[in-house]
Amino acid sequence: MGVTFKGNKSFLPSKTCVVCKKEMPWRKSWAKNWESVKYCSDACRKKAPKTQA
Ligand SMILES: [Zn+2]
Repeated sequence: MGVTFKGNKSFLPSKTCVVCKKEMPWRKSWAKNWESVKYCSDACRKKAPKTQA
């Protein structure tokens, strides 16, 4: 994994959902694709307009 956030909780980043504008706390499951996380949930992902990469 290579993530070393142990004992450093205040360092955890957060993001804003591009659909509902809510702040999303960092999730371990997002560590590997944090840069590409844009939505807080599948519901928001479905609401979002499709974008071509
Ligand atoms: Zn959202």
